[in-house]
Amino acid sequence: MSAQSLHDLTLAQSGQQLAAGQTTSVDLTRHALARIAAHSALGAFLHVDAEGALVQAAAADARRAAGQALGPLDGIPIAHKDIFVTRDLPTTAASKILQGYVSPFDATVVAKLKAAGTVTVGKLNCDEFAMGGANENSAYHLARNPWATDRIPGGSSGGSAVAVSARLVAGATGTDTGGSIRQPAALTGITGIKPTYGRCSRYGMIAFASSLDQAGPMARTAEDCALLLQAMSGFDERDATSAQQAVPDFVSGLRTPRAGATAEQPLKGLRVGVPKEFFGEGVAAGVLEATKQALAQLQKLGATLVDVSLPRTELSIPVYYIIAPAEASSNLSRFDGVKFGHRAKQYTDLADMYRKTRAEGFGPEVKRRIMIGAYVLSHGYYDAYYLQAQKLRRMIADDFQSAFQHCDVIAGPVSPNVARPIAADGGRQADPLAEYLADIFTLPASLAGLPGMSVPAGFGEHGLPVGLQLIGNYWQEGTLLHTAHAFQQATDWHQRVPASLA
Ligand code: GLN
Repeated sequence: MSAQSLHDLTLAQSGQQLAAGQTTSVDLTRHALARIAAHSALGAFLHVDAEGALVQAAAADARRAAGQALGPLDGIPIAHKDIFVTRDLPTTAASKILQGYVSPFDATVVAKLKAAGTVTVGKLNCDEFAMGGANENSAYHLARNPWATDRIPGGSSGGSAVAVSARLVAGATGTDTGGSIRQPAALTGITGIKPTYGRCSRYGMIAFASSLDQAGPMARTAEDCALLLQAMSGFDERDATSAQQAVPDFVSGLRTPRAGATAEQPLKGLRVGVPKEFFGEGVAAGVLEATKQALAQLQKLGATLVDVSLPRTELSIPVYYIIAPAEASSNLSRFDGVKFGHRAKQYTDLADMYRKTRAEGFGPEVKRRIMIGAYVLSHGYYDAYYLQAQKLRRMIADDFQSAFQHCDVIAGPVSPNVARPIAADGGRQADPLAEYLADIFTLPASLAGLPGMSVPAGFGEHGLPVGLQLIGNYWQEGTLLHTAHAFQQATDWHQRVPASLA
């Protein structure tokens, strides 16, 4: 082995080494499993399948030895957020209510990544039913930020972010309803993209807020995100909201020069919209500074900065925290002790069984959302809350379309702050309202259904990572990935690793 350890390899590099016969899938998988075990205190995983992973790895090596034509991800270990159902591994959505549940089928995204030859090493920690932004709502255990283990990694895809930033695996799946790929990616210094709503199938992704939920990849580089997204995307007849949209070649798109670009100015002609509402008060000084430096870097690469406005940015918080709980209250009604997972041991009648099962099975944040959701949908309040929120959602989407008249991508911070310390009492004492407010910059793109990305952009307060958010118009993931790739060719923020985790 060269100076580079196996865990330093990106997905793309692993693929090249496998193709060149410099490593094997079994070596990569053994190495990943050993590193996962060595860093189990980070809490990234809810379930590790060492035995199954090694069987898959041996099969990948056999395919290669037989001379089969293999895709770029074949034989590479990855892991899935425990929101995706898996046939061979338990799926809990980090909830007690699904403890011990094993699905009879694989989520489409999981099936597609398996078909691409990836090796599944396990299931990743997250907030219960993906509700949260700190991974403190996992019913099982905390996930810790590898940059400072007394701090949150972000959420809800916190385990995915920890696994990738600690280089336990080079790539992972995540889901993003209101920021759950972008925010943990930003707080741990990795790259993640939430595609356009409808790009990836939601079949087998445990539903939180169906009109917002999207799957997406988390990895260290834009190139690796492109490789994963390529495999994850595409129409699925089993998801009625999956789009009949052609999937472009994201990987070769990274290197396809823009019209008019030069070697020094690969982003020449790209208009980057800078919404003034994303740079106001409430953003930490270090985050603001790193974000501005990143914008200057885009300019150096040839992009032009354009002032734009997203006037309803603040309203995205109440709008999201009405719509998402409303949908959650409906989606989570299926967890009643009859068909899935946990059932209360002692009860008097059916209603009592429902009540006790749900009281025992759901954590406090999930209960809070079910109650808010039931309230805003109830007769008498529906028009005042839910209907009003839907109207504003449309206006938020329209604001983006006005902005995109003047620019090709929109750029700003992902999160107003760097990773905060884990709350008292093992994370249980976090302030829910403060959590909701910190979603301000990721919610607008989610409500509009637009693709959004987080790209490592330096360090802010306490030397902790900062992410640059790039938002594109519908189906423009290719533009985001291309822009991020150009940025990563000129910067090395995405290559920085926590000092304690060499
Ligand atoms: N933090 C947001 C919430 O708590 C977003 C979560 C997500 O995207 N799954 O709902």
